[in-house]
Amino acid sequence: MPRPQKNNKSPLGALLDSLVKDENPNTAPKTSTAPGHQPGGNRNKFTRPPHRPYQGSKPQQRPHGTQGGSLGTHLDRPAGTTPAPRAAGPKRSDDKQRRGNTFQYSKFGAKRGTKTSAFRTSTKEMTAANREAMIPPPAPGVIRVIPIGGVEEIGKNMTLVEIGNDIIIIDAGFQFKTEDTPGIDYIVPNTKYLEERKDKIRGLVITHGHMDHIGGIPYLIERLGYPTIYTRKLTSIMIEKRQAEFPHLEPLDIKLVEKEDRIKLGDVYVKFFAVSHSIPDSMGVIIETPYGNILGTGDLRVDNKGGIPTEAEEKAFGEIGAQNNLLLMTDSTNATNPGFSLAESTVIENIDSIIRDVSGRLIIGTFASQLQRIMDILMIVEKYGKKVVVEGRSMKTGIEIVLEMGLLKLKPNTIIDVSDVENYPDNKIVVIATGSQGEEFAAIMRISNKSHKFIRLKKGDTVLLSSSVIPGNELGVQKVKDNLSRQGAKIIHYKISEIHASGHANADELLWINKKINARFFMPIHGYHYMLSVHADIARAAGRAEENIIIPDNGSIVEIYDEGTKIRVLKEKAPSSIVMVDGFSVGDMQEVVIRDRQMLAQDGMFVIVATVDAATGELRKSPDIISRGFVYLKESQDLLHESRRIIKKSLEEGSRGQNPINFEYIKNQIGENLSKFLYQKTAKRPLIIPVLLAM
Ligand SMILES: [Zn+2]
Ligand SMILES: [Zn+2]
Repeated sequence: MPRPQKNNKSPLGALLDSLVKDENPNTAPKTSTAPGHQPGGNRNKFTRPPHRPYQGSKPQQRPHGTQGGSLGTHLDRPAGTTPAPRAAGPKRSDDKQRRGNTFQYSKFGAKRGTKTSAFRTSTKEMTAANREAMIPPPAPGVIRVIPIGGVEEIGKNMTLVEIGNDIIIIDAGFQFKTEDTPGIDYIVPNTKYLEERKDKIRGLVITHGHMDHIGGIPYLIERLGYPTIYTRKLTSIMIEKRQAEFPHLEPLDIKLVEKEDRIKLGDVYVKFFAVSHSIPDSMGVIIETPYGNILGTGDLRVDNKGGIPTEAEEKAFGEIGAQNNLLLMTDSTNATNPGFSLAESTVIENIDSIIRDVSGRLIIGTFASQLQRIMDILMIVEKYGKKVVVEGRSMKTGIEIVLEMGLLKLKPNTIIDVSDVENYPDNKIVVIATGSQGEEFAAIMRISNKSHKFIRLKKGDTVLLSSSVIPGNELGVQKVKDNLSRQGAKIIHYKISEIHASGHANADELLWINKKINARFFMPIHGYHYMLSVHADIARAAGRAEENIIIPDNGSIVEIYDEGTKIRVLKEKAPSSIVMVDGFSVGDMQEVVIRDRQMLAQDGMFVIVATVDAATGELRKSPDIISRGFVYLKESQDLLHESRRIIKKSLEEGSRGQNPINFEYIKNQIGENLSKFLYQKTAKRPLIIPVLLAM
């Protein structure tokens, strides 16, 4: 066999060279053993599994030979040969096939399982796949409602209403990554049901401009066949701004609607009503059916003074309540909070007096999504002749939009550049910034850890955190508070002063809405299951009959039948496995990738590269071992030594009596034996990637 040329490395060779440093004390100089270089072709190219197009949630067989994980390599057969039939080795379970070419010791897997719900979700989906394939169209006179997303989480809201030959979609949001989906950018609703019925889609109604309602549009609009979007002005501009970041997509067809409009989508009439929320131009939608109205409120709160709804709210909901209402679907985000929420007007009054009275500089941290409040704060700042610095991209964008639209009017020099802060007396400066949740790169964080380019805190500064702490962010927020106070700033937060109210209705507001609308049926949406179930209790308290309340899951097919007198959930389910946006790709079958990332994050990785004789299966040299995030190899020579022995033994036992040798089987053996051994020695479960180079 010719020696490999040093200067002619395959991509894998180069990759491994960059990884393999000094971790194999038994190996001769690396130059003579550059793995991956073979005479007679480039078969050792570092191959990724072919990009799998989005295929809904049906189980799929991976193409043979590419069942690897995210690092799927297929290096273990000589050029020109086909892979040995799998039947030659022990039969592998379904689970093993999905596990691909990586291994992790899983004797106590059940305990680990708590962190892999992304994976389990799709496994559950696979068993449901056959049922999905056979969803019949709704019978004549039956109205179908499917919450495709947003009822098992906060985010990725999307609900469809299907009447006769027409489908109307409400909202197209996304959800930010969760602990279960490391490295994933977003999660979007699973739109397979809609894709299969594209010709019935008559429109996409967007209730307001928050990301959990518009964020999915760029990723989903093409699949839905570019339906016309119906929404109000501000929302439309937010959608357009975002769409501009996706130049490869066709332009959107957006039609503006207002609350007096009644439009016809297919054979269905649709109306709109304004609601109070934390962003202007929020609306609810009314879909007329022969049996009464279906109402989707979107996110909302009830504007109130000390628990008494304002006249405007009384009037608006009074008018809607006077109609024949069939089904109400309402935001459950704050259903578990008792009473009425604090009036936003009270919040603004309190912030007003703080801005007026503060003696030094004032830094206000809040959510960029609280656009209405941000607008109010800017006007207060101007009223007191102060200057404001805006920090945070999303906040700047929001302000630009409302200024452009004329929703907010400011004198030209009220907003100043951050580099100008030193040119004004301290008590004339207000900074409004994102990052009140302790987000890593947000403005407040940079100010708190002194990495902000222009703003350094000093004694006399006041920091006002006009936001609640989202569950899960407590530690991050605590860190920010610590750092802010260490620099001498005085901190005012929502627990000591009434400076924040949520945009979502509390329990008593939901009760009030439910009574006012007085629809026959009720379905809570927007929230985790527990929030939905508490919201269902509220509906019962409002007089809804038990059998008229549905607590849905993502993909539940809800039908109103018997001339609008009964409601049920079908046993069939619309596809609802999670669909992820990972960089540029959108798909729902990436659980292997996700699982690998989880393992890498938890226990690191352990790569074995063994060069073996293609005919005899014998090791040609001591295997290379590459590891990251597992143990410090330099101090683990015994472990390495023993690992090599296990690899050698697995090879010998696996290839004994075989001709040709089934390297796929041997790789499994190495993976399984090694994962068990490493777990016993270290109580860790690194991701193990055995790579066999047959020469
Ligand atoms: Zn929302
Ligand atoms: Zn919202």
